Amino acid sequence: MSNINHDYIQNYINGLIPKSQGILEELENYAQDNHVPIVTPDVAALLSILIKTTNTKNILEIGTAIGYSAILMGKAAGESFKIITLERSEELVKLARQNIKRAGFEDNIEVQSGNAEEVLQSLEGVYDMIFIDAAKGQYMDFLKLSFNKLKIGGLFICDNVLFRGMVAERSLLIRRKITIVKRLKKFLSYISGHEAMQTAVIPIGDGVSISIKLKEAIIDE
Ligand code: SAH
Ligand code: MG
Repeated sequence: MSNINHDYIQNYINGLIPKSQGILEELENYAQDNHVPIVTPDVAALLSILIKTTNTKNILEIGTAIGYSAILMGKAAGESFKIITLERSEELVKLARQNIKRAGFEDNIEVQSGNAEEVLQSLEGVYDMIFIDAAKGQYMDFLKLSFNKLKIGGLFICDNVLFRGMVAERSLLIRRKITIVKRLKKFLSYISGHEAMQTAVIPIGDGVSISIKLKEAIIDE
């Protein structure tokens, strides 16, 4: 129960999505057994469609975990794509690199080890899409440090923005999550109101925000 949708809607939608195959199926099983919070099938389908419709080739991801979403996005991007993905857990960096190699994407997907706040300071390049799926309390920092790396017309996408419904509904709020929820609410209101982007918040998975960059701006909330 994610508290985002009725269970019957969620189950129905997930039932429509074809089962993954090969390495993605393996990684889904691994994630399930080891409690790794990979993107849900509905979010995976949305990411894949967004990448295909926008002909996205250069992606920056924050939060690699086992490399599942990076591999999935790579498959959607088709020929000659490049993904830089950031992960702070050394152990997961190793595992992700192994999985990426097994997927045959070692030349296309680069896992950079370290805290995204630090790695982003020295990261070069301009990206067609930025996908954030890491510490939810830091989304505003990630936006600040990466918005100038997104091309105009590019998509800035964030996972888990509704955080089990807690962002929208007080009665769901768990005490120890108050700070994260406050930060997410501030973040969503910021990206929804900022003149340099347009944002849609989609209630699938754990909540996804999709923002298009309309013009250059310095992000300083
Ligand atoms: N995107 C992945 C799942 C990522 S889970 C997928 O769908 O397959 C979130 C990951 O972000 C965790 O592995 C965690 O270690 C990492 N993370 C959280 N905060 C981070 C930060 N500040 N810098 C780098 N990695 C971070
Ligand atoms: Mg997520």
